[in-house]
Amino acid sequence: MRRLSFIAPLFLLLLGGAFLTAQERVDVDMAARIRTAGLQRSQAPALYRTLTDELGSRLTGSPEHMRAAQWARDRFAEWGLTNAHLEPFEFGRGWTLEKIAVEMTAPRYMPLVAYADAWTPSTAGVVSGRVVYVGDKSASDIQALAAQLRRAIVLTHLPQTQFVDGDRPQPGLDNRPVATGNPVLPSARSTTPPEQLASLLKNAGAAVALKPSAYRDGTVGVVGNRNTAPDAVPSITVAGEQYNVLARLAAAGQAVEVRVELRTRYQEADRNTYNVIAEIPGADPAVRDEVVLVGAHLDSWHTASGATDNADGVAAVMEAMRILKELGATPRRTIRVALWSGEEQGLLGARAYLAQRFADQAARDKLAVYLNDDPGSGKTLGFYMEGNTAAKAIFDAWLEPLRDLGATRNIIEGIGSTDHVPFNDLGLPGFNVIKDFDAYDERTRHTNADFPERMSEDELKQSAIVMATFVWQAAVRAAKIPRAGEAVPSAR
Ligand SMILES: [Zn+2]
Repeated sequence: MRRLSFIAPLFLLLLGGAFLTAQERVDVDMAARIRTAGLQRSQAPALYRTLTDELGSRLTGSPEHMRAAQWARDRFAEWGLTNAHLEPFEFGRGWTLEKIAVEMTAPRYMPLVAYADAWTPSTAGVVSGRVVYVGDKSASDIQALAAQLRRAIVLTHLPQTQFVDGDRPQPGLDNRPVATGNPVLPSARSTTPPEQLASLLKNAGAAVALKPSAYRDGTVGVVGNRNTAPDAVPSITVAGEQYNVLARLAAAGQAVEVRVELRTRYQEADRNTYNVIAEIPGADPAVRDEVVLVGAHLDSWHTASGATDNADGVAAVMEAMRILKELGATPRRTIRVALWSGEEQGLLGARAYLAQRFADQAARDKLAVYLNDDPGSGKTLGFYMEGNTAAKAIFDAWLEPLRDLGATRNIIEGIGSTDHVPFNDLGLPGFNVIKDFDAYDERTRHTNADFPERMSEDELKQSAIVMATFVWQAAVRAAKIPRAGEAVPSAR
């Protein structure tokens, strides 16, 4: 029989090994079993390694993302989850990088750290010649240069002088209120506004456009626009310091020559992309149609392995499900896992799923809670509570058996920019884990440096244990998690 404990942060009584309080019951036996499985038999490091080293980048709509989604679905099926499948939504064409080489060839030879913006077209074979610098030119100046710009390699931006030099505040540092949200990042600057610049270069028939990254020391931040026209001027982002060498020399009138070869491919055969969905069915007839949903986005940007964004979150969520199956868990409510696609293009997978599965209030009433694992890296410190004080009291109790693993603090503030947001927008209780931002903003997020070294094996194991424990408590709790602002009956 399951041993339940009652935990409240204000008055804890220890009776016969069980926590007893007036507010919240916690299944401490199951928490202990999850911890043992998660520490002694963890597959989280192996899952993370496969996601990063073997599967690699997972741009939405790419064959690489599809391969990762199928791999994840097959793991869920292999572990015995129910109804493991890919759930489509329309996305548009995918894109793959097949070849890029960017080199300065005069006044001397220097290979450049450079990446294609996602969804940019190919160059017309190998392009080489003297660069044209227009970073300091007005639109009319650029128009006057039209003849020179034909088939040219163009430096479109000013030398980069402002760099990403810090991370957003570390939520794990102390108990002060946490400022959340994406940091304000410096970007590349041009004298002519970017859209106008793009059309001027296209009309002039430029061969390729180079611009600087705002990250330091060879770190290149690259994203891309899925609506890029197939006849746009190919766009490449160069390491900031290297771009500056080219731009300074060219601005000083020196003959700078560059050779570029860029080959990309649009993936048009399937205009859908896919969320990965699987379940552990609920066993209690009274509440088994209620859903505890846990998820993370599987898609990433294309220049590295998407390790902190977001293979670590995916590994934690997958391992949480694996642990629950290994333990033969029979939850009261249904536990469902979702590995979202299209997060990086605007939380598209979560939004599509809500539109497909939670379109009406009757369906929404069946969602017990949504737990998401995305921004930051390292161990899970707790959850952002999105201003929901009633839910925070419950989550605080659930942290008790996890404190010695470093999960010590839920904070009342919220965090934006990831897949729990559209749940909250519908009034549903969606929460994201708290992780630290150590080198996340200035080094790994959306860069060519997002490789697996940032996470330790212990942090991966811990993240999975915390997630499995929270998922389990939500799945056996007496009531669903209260919606923000909802009056809460006693949980007992
Ligand atoms: Zn991201």
